[in-house]
Formats: sequence, structure tokens, C-alpha cells
Amino acid sequence: MSFPLSLTKFVGSGMTSQRARDRLAARLQAQGIGAQTVLDAIRFTPRHVFVDEAMATHAYDNKALPIGFGQTISQPYIVARMTETLLASGALDTVLEIGTGCGYQTAILAQLVGHVYSVERIALLSVNARRTLAELRLKNISFHLSDGHWGWAEHAPYAGILVTAAPETVPQALLQQLRVGGRLVIPVGAQQSVQQLHCITRQSLTEYQTQLIDTVSFVPMLDGVI
Ligand code: SAH
Repeated sequence: MSFPLSLTKFVGSGMTSQRARDRLAARLQAQGIGAQTVLDAIRFTPRHVFVDEAMATHAYDNKALPIGFGQTISQPYIVARMTETLLASGALDTVLEIGTGCGYQTAILAQLVGHVYSVERIALLSVNARRTLAELRLKNISFHLSDGHWGWAEHAPYAGILVTAAPETVPQALLQQLRVGGRLVIPVGAQQSVQQLHCITRQSLTEYQTQLIDTVSFVPMLDGVI
């Protein structure tokens, strides 16, 4: 693993130690995550550096945690499940991520795919994530401050697209920016109701197939940039 894990800040201690990460990975495996590459990425990614220091002792609980601006770092099980679903068709060269947040999901993806293009609508979150991921020496990531409803046309089409905020319906731009054969993993549904995690495969220029993966609870996908 290429992380500078020899730096004390990343290794952690006690509740943030390698043992805590190993236990989290073992728990996710027991809950049905089968992809060893995904479990390894969870084991080697210091989740505690993505959250506020006051929250660090909870970083390896299988829970969503606040990251400011009313947003949350996704629950590790959901991160693993979405990543495993995205990668199920094989290695991916380019992935578009909507909702950088604190950058934890971005870090997991960056270890498993060729390049991650990550879009966030809240400027401060994007800046902070950029800094954390640079500290971790992950270089195969490009960041964009924008409304993810529009995707990121400049680098399309993508082999995979992963969305970590829930729209009420699937944005057209994301369907269009998916390569034929590619997968879009996205939570869909109204905020106050049950959301469904969809895996949408583009079968041809005009055909898409949708598979329902799980019931989930994500923050809403909102309009505009702040
Ligand atoms: N993967 C992130 C999840 C953060 S929560 C993490 O683990 O930290 C969802 C994120 O999606 C928030 O940062 C939120 O600001 C962002 N988001 C919501 N609507 C968006 C939109 N239209 N475009 C881009 N990002 C959006």
C-alpha cells in the first residue's frame, strides 16, 4: 500500500490503530462484503484522518459521522457495498464520483481504479478533501467544484459512476456520461422515504438495465454550488 502509514498521524493508536481497521474489515466481511480488494482498501485507509479529531475514536465504528455543513461521511458498510458493486464487472480505468464529502470514499476508489474524477458542490468540503488526499499521497484524483446533476462532461464517458447523495430521480447527464458496458451506482428516492440503491448498467447507446441492491439512507442531492 502506498500510504505513508509510517507517519504516526496515519497509523493511529488505540481506537484509531491498525487493529481497529482490521476489526472493521472483519466485521464488513461478516456482513457479506466478499471482494478482498475492497476489504484490503478498508484495512489500509486511515478513516480517522477524514473526520474531526473529536470524532476520531469513533472512526472505525460502522457508522455515518458528521463532517460539517449538515453532511456525513458514509457508513463503512455502504462505502464497501457500493465500491464492490461498482467493481463487480472488472477493473475500471475511469470513475466519476458525485459527492466528494470528506474524501474517504474517494480514497477507497483511488486505490482500486485508474483515475477518480470527483465532484462536490460545497467549496470548503472540496478544499479539505483535496488536502487530506494529498497528504495521503493519492495522486490519481481530479477534483471539481460543481453541481453533480451535470456530471463532468469534459472527461466522459466513464467506466463507472458512483453517487453518494440521493436525487429523487436519476439525472440524465449521468446516464449519458456512462460508457456502454459501464455501471452507475446511485441511491434514488425522496428524503423522507426509503431510498433504493440502484446499479444501472448501460447496455447500448439507448438501453439501460437497473438492478436494486439495497435500501439506504443518504443525504439529498442538492442543486447549485456553495
Ligand atoms: N462520500 C462522501 C459522502 C458525503 S455526503 C463521504 O464519505 O464523505 C454527500 C456529499 O454529496 C456531500 O458532501 C454533499 O455536499 C454532496 N452533494 C450533494 N448534492 C450534490 C450535488 N448536486 N453535486 C455534488 N455534490 C453534492
